[in-house]
Parts: sequence; C-alpha cells; structure tokens
Amino acid sequence: MAEVLVLGGGVAGISAAWHARQAGREAVIFEAKERYGGLLDHFHRSGFRFDNAVHFAFSKNEPYSALLAKADLITHRPEPYNYEQGRWLKHPVQNNLYPLPVEEKVEAIRSFIERPERGEDPDYRRWLYEQFGEVIAERYPVRYTEKYWTVPAERLSTVWIGNRLYRPSLEEVLFGAMTDRTPLTYYLPELFYPRRGGFRAILDPLIDDLDLRTGKEAVLIDPARGFVECRDGTREYYEHLVSSVPLPEAAVMVEGAPGKVKEAAGSLWATSIALVSLGLKVPRAGDHLWFYIYDSDMLPARVHAPYRKSPDNVPEGCSSLQFETYFSRHRPLPLSEEALIEHVVGAAEKMGLLTVADVAVSDCRILPYGNVVFEKGMTAKRRLVLDFLKEQGILPVGRFGEWDYLWTDQSFLSGKKVENLFRML
Ligand SMILES: Cc1cc2nc3c(=O)[nH]c(=O)nc-3n(C[C@H](O)[C@H](O)[C@H](O)COP(=O)(O)OP(=O)(O)OC[C@H]3O[C@@H](n4cnc5c(N)ncnc54)[C@H](O)[C@@H]3O)c2cc1C
Repeated sequence: MAEVLVLGGGVAGISAAWHARQAGREAVIFEAKERYGGLLDHFHRSGFRFDNAVHFAFSKNEPYSALLAKADLITHRPEPYNYEQGRWLKHPVQNNLYPLPVEEKVEAIRSFIERPERGEDPDYRRWLYEQFGEVIAERYPVRYTEKYWTVPAERLSTVWIGNRLYRPSLEEVLFGAMTDRTPLTYYLPELFYPRRGGFRAILDPLIDDLDLRTGKEAVLIDPARGFVECRDGTREYYEHLVSSVPLPEAAVMVEGAPGKVKEAAGSLWATSIALVSLGLKVPRAGDHLWFYIYDSDMLPARVHAPYRKSPDNVPEGCSSLQFETYFSRHRPLPLSEEALIEHVVGAAEKMGLLTVADVAVSDCRILPYGNVVFEKGMTAKRRLVLDFLKEQGILPVGRFGEWDYLWTDQSFLSGKKVENLFRML
C-alpha cells in the first residue's frame, strides 16, 4: 500500500511527492508516459532539443524560487514581438502602435479615448473594448483569441486574465504611437531558462529519491476500497490519493461517479496544441526569442526560438524554431500533421525567418492539453467536479488537476498542498 499515491509525474505530481517525502511520508508516483515532466518535458530530433512549447521560469513564490536557485540559469529580457501582415510590432501592441500608418494610429487612438465605460460582469470581448477601445481590441486581441482560445471572445469570461494583459494609460498609448523607444511593459521583468538540459532540468533537484513509476496509466479509482487500477492491470492501494490527471478524466475514472458529475466534467474543455518544430542548419532564424502571429491565413498563434533560450538546445552553428497551432473540439485542426509542417515552413518563409533549404529536421506532434478554457459558466461546473473529488478524499493538483490557468510555479505550489492532508490528521 502507498502511503501517498500521486497520479501524474509532471511538476505538480513531482512537487506533491517531494513535499510528502519532506513531511516524512512514503510517496509513489504513477506516470502514464515513459518519461516524467509532463508539459515540462522535451524531445530530441537529430541533435536538436525541443521543449513542449515555449517555457521560461519566473516566480515570486518562495518554494519555487528556492528550487530555481539550485539551477544554472540563463537570464532573458522579455521582449516579445507581434507579427501582422509583414509588420513587426513590439509587445504589447496597445502601447506600441508605432509601425502602423498614421491614419490607422489616429483611428486606434480615437477609439481608445472613446472606449466604453466599465460594465458589470463583461464577457471577454466587451472587457477588451473597455480596456483598449474597439479598434485595437478587434484588430489584435479579439483576432488572437480566435487563434489561441479557438472560440470568439464573447464566449469567454474574464476570471483568468489577472495581470496577463497590459492596460496602458492614454499617455502610454500616445507615446508608443510616436516612437519605438518604449519601456518594457511586459508583466514580468525577467525570465530564466536552464543553461543545460532543457526546461525540465529545473526539476532535477527533486527527482533523485522519488519512487517514480512510468508507464502506469491510471484508469480506475475506487475510493470506497482505496485503490487505483492502471491500464496494465497494476492495482495499488493507497492511504492518500493526489491526482494531477486532467479533471474531466479523473472525475469519470472514479467508480460510481454520479451522472451530474460526469455531465459537468464532460462540459469542461481545453485547447490542444499542434507543435511544429524546425531544426535549421543556419546559425540564425529571425530576430526574436518569441512572437505572436495575428494573420488568420497563418495557422500558428505563437512562435519561439529554442536556440535563443539556450545554445544547448541545438548543434553548434544551428538554430531552431517552434510553432504553436491551437485547436479544440470547437475548432478542429484543419490540416494533417504533414500538411501542417508544410504550411508552417511556407508561413515562416513568408515572414522572412528561413528558406526551405535551411530546414534540417521537422517534427509535428500534438499536446492534447494546452490551456483550460474559461467559457462563461465554466467555474460553477468545475466547482461541482472538484467538490465531488474532495468528498471522495482525492486531492486534485496542478494545471489540469485543478483545471486552472496555472504557470509552472503555481503548479509546483499546487502540489505542495499535499501537506494539508497530513495537517488534517
Ligand atoms: C503552451 C504552454 C506554454 C507554457 N509556458 C509556460 C512558461 O513559460 N512558464 C511557466 O511557468 N509555465 C508555462 N506553462 C504552464 C506549465 O506548463 C504548467 O503549469 C505545468 O507544466 C503543469 O504541470 P502539471 O504537473 O500540473 O501538469 P502536466 O505537466 O500536464 O502533468 C500531468 C502528468 O500527468 C500524466 N497523466 C495524465 N493522465 C494520467 C493518468 N491517467 N495516469 C497517470 N498519469 C497521467 C501526464 O502524462 C503528465 O505527465 C505553459 C503551458 C503551456 C500549455
């Protein structure tokens, strides 16, 4: 019997097991895949390393900062860009309109000044109008929402926004329309990335003594008898159960879950990501660490340069790019993986990032869980499912376990909640 059984070997599950051990408990992790790390993991293609999408470390919370302090990190200044029809605008666009034609800037500023009053409980589209005015909102974040969240902005609530979107003053909008010498207004002052080993290397100090069992996909939870069953037939009894399995899957895994819980779980959905990774036999690919694409005829929403995160990610003299295309049950991926690679190479060429002859390796793979989508009314359904798991004595942790928009540091902290199980005794 496991004193603490943790489902999922991503950062949340590893944090839970590590904190359990710190509290003197024996913990076992069941990870479905053959490797640990979850979204923090990476893969190799012919000497190129690619993370699972763009990943940087940043944190103000203490236990995670202490973890980062143990790693050898490269510091990056966050200076993302935005690509729109051949133009490159600094990020965030709302206070960096400088490259636009004068008439378009005037129109955007007029609309910013005339933006509507704050309404009560606005949907995301209305909220964007209130912050930036209709012209900027429609041209940038509303369009980006369709690509990134895969549904129109009016279907989303605003509970997830936090400090993610910069809200400039009129002076900042005017300044950024007149000059490109604007200050950094990204919501984080600096970003960190491991010098060696890819992003997953930040977990290195945690894993040495953990009892991590890979290839163990949980398929059934029986809280009444206190065991978990895996696809390979393994049955493990537990005293405490922690789950970082995506909430909609965890809920239906529970033996005897009522219909209303299954129904609520079925209504929760996340975006998926088709990752196209290109290894290039030239030392440079574009000018940016990462950028966003607004054009609707280009499928990817975000691109980053793994070789700029760390030179350790590429063979000497080479560079690399990775493109994120989002899709979901509401907007399926319109191309096969092979056709998507071709589309991405074409788009990259159009943006002036590479020529076809530069491409040494290409890879396309799917991340089934990208971002939890905050449709209006989602949080009530999530509450119902979370309460059910709590009643069954299951502690949900992590980005998909808690079904929230959590960064790595927050997922790490989420795993630390395992300590509460022991405090209650
Ligand atoms: C595109 C993108 C970019 C991001 N960029 C950043 C960034 O720059 N900085 C940052 O701090 N954070 C970033 N994040 C967030 C970060 O990736 C997450 O917060 C974190 O990885 C979540 O960890 P987790 O352990 O909760 O989930 P996961 O990493 O998803 O781990 C869950 C694990 O559970 C396993 N599992 C699933 N089902 C079962 C089962 N039935 N049985 C056993 N195991 C199972 C999975 O295989 C997986 O390994 C980003 C996320 C995305 C999607």
